[in-house]
Amino acid sequence: MEKLEKSDKLEFVFGCTKCGGQVHIQAESREQAENWLRAQSGFCPAGGNHVELSFEGCFEYVGISPKVHKIPSKQERFKAAITKMLEEVKNGRAVLTAGNIGIPTIHNIKNARHCGFGFFEVTLPNGNTINFDAGGAMHQAPEPIYGWTYLRGDAKGWGYPYERVIKRLTEISKGATDLKEGFDGLG
Ligand SMILES: [Zn+2]
Repeated sequence: MEKLEKSDKLEFVFGCTKCGGQVHIQAESREQAENWLRAQSGFCPAGGNHVELSFEGCFEYVGISPKVHKIPSKQERFKAAITKMLEEVKNGRAVLTAGNIGIPTIHNIKNARHCGFGFFEVTLPNGNTINFDAGGAMHQAPEPIYGWTYLRGDAKGWGYPYERVIKRLTEISKGATDLKEGFDGLG
């Protein structure tokens, strides 16, 4: 086995028996990867559209991927999160952050009902619903993002400002540093 530097991680692969998906977890040990899986709530991290996640009986250890990962720096993780969010919004998906970087945050979603497992839902005046995962089910990102998640359902009906978000994320990806600029509502 490759000798690991202290800052390196291996990639552990688990299969989900409920949806058949796979989850790749970068961790320093299998135990650490399993602990991460045990702590998940919200939708299945293997990509399935289900929230029943019991580590025992749901996730099966597949093996270790030969890849060794350098633990990315905070700056690299920040950039990766911005790049991924920008790509998703350009593809028509809506994203929310935990911290305020000038795009809608989970705190901008008013009247959200907590349905358990960190899953929140809102019924809009037009009768459609939107929902999102918060807490531990969010994609990890360093501050000032703190985490990000998808706004699913009728995001357009909620008034999700796609163009503004694309403009803002593009500015940040090009090096805008005024990250304290807040998202101050819709429109
Ligand atoms: Zn699953």
